Amino acid sequence: MQVLDDITELNLAVELLRRKARVSIVHHETGVSRPKLRILYRELHGRGAPSGQLSAIGGATIQTRLQQVHAGLFAALYEHYAGPAISRQLDIRAVIAAHDFYVSLVLQEPLVDFNGAWVIARDLRVGMSELRSCDVCEVRYLISSESRLAPTCPFCVLHARRGGLGEPRLVLPAVLAQPLDDTDTAALSRG
Ligand SMILES: [Zn+2]
Repeated sequence: MQVLDDITELNLAVELLRRKARVSIVHHETGVSRPKLRILYRELHGRGAPSGQLSAIGGATIQTRLQQVHAGLFAALYEHYAGPAISRQLDIRAVIAAHDFYVSLVLQEPLVDFNGAWVIARDLRVGMSELRSCDVCEVRYLISSESRLAPTCPFCVLHARRGGLGEPRLVLPAVLAQPLDDTDTAALSRG
Protein backbone atom coordinates (compact mmCIF):
# COMPACT_ATOMS: atom_id res chain seq x y z
CA MET A 1 0.00 0.00 0.00
CA GLN A 2 3.07 2.23 -0.15
CA VAL A 3 1.94 4.03 -3.34
CA LEU A 4 -1.52 4.72 -1.89
CA ASP A 5 0.04 5.99 1.32
CA ASP A 6 2.30 8.30 -0.68
CA ILE A 7 -0.66 9.70 -2.60
CA THR A 8 -2.62 10.26 0.64
CA GLU A 9 0.33 12.09 2.19
CA LEU A 10 0.84 14.19 -0.94
CA ASN A 11 -2.85 15.13 -1.02
CA LEU A 12 -2.67 16.15 2.63
CA ALA A 13 0.46 18.19 1.89
CA VAL A 14 -1.36 20.04 -0.91
CA GLU A 15 -4.35 20.71 1.35
CA LEU A 16 -2.02 22.19 3.96
CA LEU A 17 0.00 24.25 1.47
CA ARG A 18 -3.22 25.65 -0.03
CA ARG A 19 -3.87 27.09 3.45
CA LYS A 20 -0.36 28.57 3.43
CA ALA A 21 0.93 26.23 6.11
CA ARG A 22 4.67 26.56 6.72
CA VAL A 23 6.87 24.06 4.91
CA SER A 24 8.23 22.93 8.31
CA ILE A 25 4.70 22.10 9.52
CA VAL A 26 3.76 20.29 6.31
CA HIS A 27 6.98 18.29 6.38
CA HIS A 28 6.35 17.37 10.01
CA GLU A 29 2.79 16.24 9.30
CA THR A 30 3.29 14.43 6.00
CA GLY A 31 6.94 13.42 5.69
CA VAL A 32 7.02 14.88 2.14
CA SER A 33 10.50 16.28 1.47
CA ARG A 34 11.10 20.00 2.01
CA PRO A 35 12.39 20.67 -1.56
CA LYS A 36 9.27 19.05 -3.02
CA LEU A 37 7.07 21.09 -0.67
CA ARG A 38 8.80 24.33 -1.70
CA ILE A 39 8.12 23.52 -5.36
CA LEU A 40 4.48 22.73 -4.59
CA TYR A 41 4.12 25.96 -2.62
CA ARG A 42 5.46 27.99 -5.54
CA GLU A 43 3.11 26.25 -7.98
CA LEU A 44 0.09 26.89 -5.74
CA HIS A 45 0.81 30.50 -4.79
CA GLY A 46 3.04 31.80 -7.57
CA ARG A 47 5.80 32.76 -5.15
CA GLY A 48 8.25 31.11 -2.80
CA ALA A 49 7.31 29.77 0.61
CA PRO A 50 8.15 32.20 3.42
CA SER A 51 11.09 31.15 5.52
CA GLY A 52 11.94 32.00 9.10
CA GLN A 53 11.09 30.49 12.41
CA LEU A 54 7.61 29.59 13.43
CA SER A 55 6.55 30.98 16.78
CA ALA A 56 8.03 28.62 19.34
CA ILE A 57 5.45 29.51 21.93
CA GLY A 58 1.88 30.00 20.77
CA GLY A 59 0.66 31.65 23.94
CA ALA A 60 3.18 34.47 23.60
CA THR A 61 1.54 35.49 20.32
CA ILE A 62 -1.83 35.99 22.05
CA GLN A 63 -1.45 39.57 23.20
CA THR A 64 -4.95 41.01 23.26
CA ARG A 65 -8.31 39.85 24.57
CA LEU A 66 -9.69 39.86 21.04
CA GLN A 67 -6.89 37.55 19.89
CA GLN A 68 -7.68 35.34 22.87
CA VAL A 69 -11.34 35.22 21.79
CA HIS A 70 -10.34 34.20 18.25
CA ALA A 71 -7.82 31.63 19.47
CA GLY A 72 -10.43 30.22 21.83
CA LEU A 73 -13.01 30.00 19.06
CA PHE A 74 -10.59 27.99 16.93
CA ALA A 75 -9.61 25.82 19.93
CA ALA A 76 -13.24 25.04 20.81
CA LEU A 77 -13.96 24.05 17.20
CA TYR A 78 -10.80 21.96 17.13
CA GLU A 79 -11.85 20.21 20.35
CA HIS A 80 -15.23 19.56 18.76
CA TYR A 81 -13.65 17.83 15.75
CA ALA A 82 -10.75 16.07 17.46
CA GLY A 83 -12.45 15.09 20.72
CA PRO A 84 -10.80 14.64 24.11
CA ALA A 85 -7.60 13.28 22.54
CA ILE A 86 -6.33 16.84 21.86
CA SER A 87 -4.09 16.62 24.92
CA ARG A 88 -2.49 13.41 23.64
CA GLN A 89 -2.06 13.93 19.91
CA LEU A 90 -2.32 16.61 17.26
CA ASP A 91 -5.06 15.72 14.78
CA ILE A 92 -4.06 17.55 11.62
CA ARG A 93 -7.33 16.82 9.79
CA ALA A 94 -9.25 18.27 12.72
CA VAL A 95 -6.99 21.37 12.59
CA ILE A 96 -7.93 21.79 8.90
CA ALA A 97 -11.67 21.31 9.54
CA ALA A 98 -11.71 23.60 12.57
CA HIS A 99 -9.66 26.33 10.90
CA ASP A 100 -11.84 26.25 7.76
CA PHE A 101 -14.91 26.58 9.96
CA TYR A 102 -13.32 29.37 12.00
CA VAL A 103 -12.47 31.34 8.82
CA SER A 104 -16.03 30.89 7.54
CA LEU A 105 -17.45 32.28 10.81
CA VAL A 106 -15.20 35.32 11.04
CA LEU A 107 -16.35 37.95 8.62
CA GLN A 108 -13.42 40.32 8.99
CA GLU A 109 -9.79 39.34 8.57
CA PRO A 110 -9.21 36.20 10.66
CA LEU A 111 -6.82 36.81 13.55
CA VAL A 112 -5.65 33.18 13.57
CA ASP A 113 -4.00 32.00 10.36
CA PHE A 114 -3.47 28.33 9.63
CA ASN A 115 -0.01 28.29 11.20
CA GLY A 116 -1.35 29.94 14.34
CA ALA A 117 -4.08 27.28 14.42
CA TRP A 118 -1.50 24.50 14.21
CA VAL A 119 0.51 26.08 17.03
CA ILE A 120 -2.62 26.29 19.21
CA ALA A 121 -3.36 22.60 18.52
CA ARG A 122 0.23 21.73 19.40
CA ASP A 123 0.11 23.78 22.62
CA LEU A 124 -3.13 22.02 23.63
CA ARG A 125 -1.38 18.69 23.13
CA VAL A 126 1.71 19.54 25.19
CA GLY A 127 -0.34 21.24 27.91
CA MET A 128 0.89 24.82 27.37
CA SER A 129 -2.66 25.91 26.54
CA GLU A 130 -6.00 24.68 27.79
CA LEU A 131 -9.69 25.28 27.28
CA ARG A 132 -11.64 26.29 30.36
CA SER A 133 -15.30 27.00 30.95
CA CYS A 134 -16.09 30.38 32.48
CA ASP A 135 -18.15 30.09 35.67
CA VAL A 136 -19.71 33.48 35.02
CA CYS A 137 -20.68 33.59 31.33
CA GLU A 138 -20.38 29.82 30.76
CA VAL A 139 -18.45 30.19 27.49
CA ARG A 140 -15.39 28.05 26.72
CA TYR A 141 -12.20 30.08 26.45
CA LEU A 142 -8.52 29.43 25.88
CA ILE A 143 -5.68 30.21 28.24
CA SER A 144 -1.97 29.88 27.49
CA SER A 145 0.78 29.60 30.05
CA GLU A 146 3.08 31.92 28.09
CA SER A 147 0.56 34.66 27.35
CA ARG A 148 1.06 38.00 29.08
CA LEU A 149 -2.71 38.16 29.60
CA ALA A 150 -4.18 37.11 32.94
CA PRO A 151 -5.64 33.59 32.63
CA THR A 152 -9.21 34.83 32.82
CA CYS A 153 -12.25 34.78 30.54
CA PRO A 154 -11.86 37.25 27.63
CA PHE A 155 -15.62 37.50 27.08
CA CYS A 156 -16.20 38.79 30.62
CA VAL A 157 -13.27 41.24 30.29
CA LEU A 158 -14.50 42.59 26.94
CA HIS A 159 -18.08 42.75 28.22
CA ALA A 160 -17.01 44.86 31.19
CA ARG A 161 -14.66 47.00 29.07
CA ARG A 162 -17.51 47.85 26.69
CA GLY A 163 -19.66 49.10 29.52
CA GLY A 164 -21.62 45.89 30.04
CA LEU A 165 -23.69 46.06 33.19
CA GLY A 166 -23.59 43.08 35.49
CA GLU A 167 -22.24 39.73 34.41
CA PRO A 168 -22.66 38.36 30.91
CA ARG A 169 -24.70 35.17 31.00
CA LEU A 170 -25.72 32.63 28.43
CA VAL A 171 -29.37 33.01 29.29
CA LEU A 172 -31.91 33.71 26.59
CA PRO A 173 -33.34 37.24 26.70
CA ALA A 174 -36.92 37.17 28.03
CA VAL A 175 -38.41 37.87 24.64
CA LEU A 176 -36.73 34.78 23.13
CA ALA A 177 -37.43 32.61 26.16
CA GLN A 178 -41.19 32.87 25.53
CA PRO A 179 -42.71 29.80 23.86
CA LEU A 180 -42.53 30.34 20.12
CA ASP A 181 -45.62 30.95 18.09
CA ASP A 182 -46.47 27.46 16.96
CA THR A 183 -47.56 28.09 13.38
CA ASP A 184 -44.27 26.87 11.89
CA THR A 185 -44.13 23.62 13.82
CA ALA A 186 -47.86 23.09 13.38
CA ALA A 187 -47.39 23.39 9.63
CA LEU A 188 -44.57 20.87 9.83
CA SER A 189 -46.62 18.31 11.75
CA ARG A 190 -49.55 18.77 9.37
CA GLY A 191 -47.27 18.38 6.39
ZN1 LIG B 1 -16.82 34.71 31.11
